[in-house]
Parts: sequence; C-alpha cells; structure tokens
Amino acid sequence: MPAPRPRIFRPTPANLARLAAALRRGALVGVPAETVYGLAADALDPAACAAIFTAKGRPSTDPLIVHLAAARDLPKVAITNAAIAPLARAFWPGPLTLVLPKLSCIPDLITAGRPTVAVRVPGHPLFRELIRLAGRPLAAPSANPFGYISPTRAAHVRDGLTGTALRAVLDGGECTVGVESTILDLTDPDHPRLLRPGGIAVEALERVLGRPVLRPKPARLSPAAAAPAPGMLAQHYSPRTPLQLHPRLDVAALDALPADEAALLLAKPARLVRATERKRIRWLSETGAEAEIARHLFARLRELDAGGWRRLHAELPAGTEGLVPAIRDRLLRAAAKR
Ligand code: AMP
Ligand code: MG
Repeated sequence: MPAPRPRIFRPTPANLARLAAALRRGALVGVPAETVYGLAADALDPAACAAIFTAKGRPSTDPLIVHLAAARDLPKVAITNAAIAPLARAFWPGPLTLVLPKLSCIPDLITAGRPTVAVRVPGHPLFRELIRLAGRPLAAPSANPFGYISPTRAAHVRDGLTGTALRAVLDGGECTVGVESTILDLTDPDHPRLLRPGGIAVEALERVLGRPVLRPKPARLSPAAAAPAPGMLAQHYSPRTPLQLHPRLDVAALDALPADEAALLLAKPARLVRATERKRIRWLSETGAEAEIARHLFARLRELDAGGWRRLHAELPAGTEGLVPAIRDRLLRAAAKR
C-alpha cells in the first residue's frame, strides 16, 4: 500500500470548519503562517502534541510554540507582565514569540518539562481563524521532518510529511515572511533575552521596550558551545546536498564552478549568466531587498536540493540589523556539518 499522502485543502469556510473539527478530535493539521507552514495540534491535548513530535521525528527536548487567536487570550496560558502589552500592540499578530512562565493547563510535553511556555499570535489570518474555530490554542512547530529545510508552501508540507499521521494541510499560499519568528525570553521583563533571530528585527523590539535586548554571542553558533535556547542546534534547516557559504559569489566565481555544482545568490547578477547556467544559478531577490531574500530563502534552497547537484554554494549576507541576523542564522545552520 502506498504511504498515506496528506491532502491539501483550499481555504473555504466548509474546509476550515472541517479542519477545526479534526483539531478538536486530536488530529494533526498543516497550517499556513506568515513565517513558515506549521504542524498544528490542540495545545491542551498531550496525546495530540505527542503526535507532532512523532510525525516530525523531533526530539522531546525541543519545546513547541503555542499559538493564540488574539493577545487577550494570553492570560489563559501564561503569566503576563508589564513589558508584554507594548510588544503585543506593536508586533501581534506577527512573527514575535514570547517566552513566559507557563500556567498548569499547558502540558509539560509542549515545554519539554520547562516552567516556561513560548507563545505568539500568528500574522496569517487563516491560522488565526482556525484557532478561533477550534476554540483552543494550537501548538505548532514547522511542518517538516526535524532538521530539514522549513516549508513555505502547502506542497512542501505534503511532500515532506507523506507517510506520517498528518492527513490534511490548509493551503494559505506562499509564506510572506519566509523565516521563523523572533523568540524573546521575557521571563524576567527587566532582562529581555533574544533566543532566536527571526521575522522581527531586534532593534525594533528594543525601540518598543525602551531597553537593550541581550543577544546570544555568535560563538554560540559553534557546535561545541551550548545553544541559546533548547532545540537551537548548530545544524538545522539543512539541505541533503552539502552547502558551502561565501561572502560573495561574483561572475568569475560562478564561471569557475564545476558543472555539477549550483549556486544561490542574494540578488540577480548584473550580467546574466549563459542560458545553460540559468538552471544552476538562482537568486533570492531582484535587487537584494532583505524581505524578499527571507521570503524566498527556504523555497530556493529546496529547489536546488532537489536538483541532484554534488554541492551547493550560497552567499551569506553581512550585517547585524533588520532581517539579516535571521537570514544569516538559517544559512549558517543549513551549512553546518552534521
Ligand atoms: P519552532 O521549531 O519554530 O517551532 O520553534 C520552537 C523553538 O522555540 C524551540 O526550538 C526553542 O528553541 C524555542 N522555545 C520553545 N519553547 C521554549 C521555552 N519554553 N523556552 C525557551 N525556548 C523555547
Ligand atoms: Mg523548525
């Protein structure tokens, strides 16, 4: 018998009602987010959450993010503090996750046994609608096998999780942000700590908080050092093809690439490469705009990974502001040796 393949559902009212009912029964559903597609389950049902870990092959030490339909639901899952309201007003719905002391209704499985829970209100309206219809918070990590490139289209979810307990994916189009949320530890509101760079710039958080955010040292990205947050492994988001990073790949470097290797550029090259090269030289943006680079990063990496190349090369952007830290973080982990 062929492996069960998840079915992709168009976002009609009838399908949304049907998927919400499946979530209430404890099923898994692939959901669109502005960040990357999620693998959602009822956050208050430990068995449903356990199925997320099994489907992804995710270690139980890696906690899940809980998603709410609105910021006003936050006191139902976490202990709030005064630093939250301005952040929620500025960035929710959107790609900001807050780590806060958890309430007892949140299963230990979700938090990997920690006393804190990661929470956000997603920016994709279909995701929020599904949470509302399901009538409960939804736990959702990215909807990909653990460690592989994150999914930014419904078809990525279907193809990656065929053969698992997942039966349904809600199609919400291409993810508009394209990288995961920024995770901020607000357990101690006087000392906010960045746990993961993501879709919201840290400087923007600092402006709203009116205080500096502690950032993990870049050295922490080395495999030997401790990760800044549970589950932040040195190697992640990885294509199966070996990936090598470069500060810049100019036309001469591209011309010198062996015929069985491919390259991913940050922006369209000034001089168009030969027609025969078009297949193995891709770019993430027309002009180098960072939002466009982030949006296309995972999908282009997947395309190149499926191309049968012996090795992939990619340009690593320089900088410490805006979306650059998130783009650098994903590329550095994707290229890390397993
Ligand atoms: P994702 O894989 O995008 O679902 O992101 C989940 C990540 O959020 C985990 O890998 C952790 O790094 C982080 N996280 C979730 N819950 C917590 C928590 N309670 N404390 C610290 N980090 C957390
Ligand atoms: Mg993930």
